[in-house]
Amino acid sequence: MKNIAIVGGGISGLTTAFYIKEQQPDVKITIFEKEQKLGGKMRSIKKDGYIIEEGSNGFLSNKPDTLELVKLAKCEDILKRSSDNARIRFIYTDALHNLPESPIAFLKTKLLTMMGKLRVAKELFIASKKDDSDETLQSFGYRRVGKEMTDVFLDAMVAGIYASKPDAISVKAAFPAVVKLEQEYGGLFKGMFKKRKKEAGPGGILMSFDGGVSSFIDRLQENLDIEICKNSPITEAKKEGEKYIIDGKEFDALILSTPSYEASKILQNIDKNISNKLDKIDYSALSVVALGYDNLENELKGFGLLTTTSAKKNVLGVLWDSSIFDDRATKGKKLLRIMIGGQRNPKLAMKSEEELINIAIEGVKETMGIGQKPDFSIAIRHKYAIPNYKIGHLANVKEIFQVVEKHKGLYLNSNAYQGVGLNDCVANSKKCAMEVLANL
Ligand SMILES: Cc1cc2nc3c(=O)[nH]c(=O)nc-3n(C[C@H](O)[C@H](O)[C@H](O)COP(=O)(O)OP(=O)(O)OC[C@H]3O[C@@H](n4cnc5c(N)ncnc54)[C@H](O)[C@@H]3O)c2cc1C
Repeated sequence: MKNIAIVGGGISGLTTAFYIKEQQPDVKITIFEKEQKLGGKMRSIKKDGYIIEEGSNGFLSNKPDTLELVKLAKCEDILKRSSDNARIRFIYTDALHNLPESPIAFLKTKLLTMMGKLRVAKELFIASKKDDSDETLQSFGYRRVGKEMTDVFLDAMVAGIYASKPDAISVKAAFPAVVKLEQEYGGLFKGMFKKRKKEAGPGGILMSFDGGVSSFIDRLQENLDIEICKNSPITEAKKEGEKYIIDGKEFDALILSTPSYEASKILQNIDKNISNKLDKIDYSALSVVALGYDNLENELKGFGLLTTTSAKKNVLGVLWDSSIFDDRATKGKKLLRIMIGGQRNPKLAMKSEEELINIAIEGVKETMGIGQKPDFSIAIRHKYAIPNYKIGHLANVKEIFQVVEKHKGLYLNSNAYQGVGLNDCVANSKKCAMEVLANL
């Protein structure tokens, strides 16, 4: 019987195990997980009538990957759809503005000047980039939709998805679908119009699980016929002939589903070159503060807000969690989750828990006018929250994967390489599982 080791029990490690087992049930799999709990950045805390997500709070339904996994893993009964109100989103610049959802709303928004809006419209007539060199999101945005649009919309969006800044992130690595629109259709608007015609279908709806994302992780784990070693941090791997040695045991294949800096340490004895390249991928620090309120007057109708760099606020965004998913706070209570730090202000993310809570309280006061003292608070610090796909990321990852291919039975699979969203992690894990099976 073939024997596979997976290091890291986040969604990437668990999904890879799931798809291997689904295709070949007689393979033996052992997951080594550093922490007491599986899930990695997908973990929920239940406390005082609140469900607090430490990291992700869901996935979008406009990509099939996670939904397919949910179905195959027989977890549809715990799938939870976000409330319709969650489609209402805000951007804070000098005040709270609705994120325009239609062309008419875009024409009316005060987020951009008339010149800024005209510059966005000019995108239709801007020729596509001739070469395929890497560029920052800022350079891409300035070129295609202009400075104003980039400094407001793209700036807020990249803080919300990657905890990054437009000038710190590679557009090709972080937003490949957007670059494809330019390359294939000659522009963003041209691409969107043509794609919409071809792919009539619903837009993305944010989905999660009853009781928080941990419910899904728990179910996946329960239904998998594999060995799970918790509290098992792996510090090194060895290679003897074609076998990999982890924790004194022999394996035919080794899948590293840890963050890249951990994979770098684990592979030091096996391949210094890969180890050094893995070490080049850096991460954004980001902390999450949850504030709970009894009898909050603010109706919290919407998904939440993102701030722009120009707003000069200490919070990147505020998610109105109890309005997005109704079970995140018991009746009468409301829950906010505030994001602090990221590439905009990494030092802030690593303040003490007490300081973070105070920053969050000040942040909701400044952006939403909530002066009421919270009845509940908790801070979760992520020193290495999200990989930063900076310029050169794709080339570095390509080189890493080329060298990894030379080591039969070795695989790298986590959010460090080809996408951070849960849908990306699930899609890449399925791909990884199929490669493992093909080479076993
Ligand atoms: C605050 C925040 C909010 C987010 N929100 C969203 C969202 O709403 N939607 C979305 O799609 N994505 C979101 N994301 C991104 C998404 O959650 C992650 O990209 C995804 O969960 C990463 O999964 P992973 O398995 O690749 O890595 P991880 O979740 O990091 O899992 C890696 C696992 O490896 C373990 N490990 C590490 N080192 C070792 C070692 N040496 N030995 C053994 N085990 C080890 C870790 O403990 C961990 O369990 C968010 C991320 C953060 C931080």
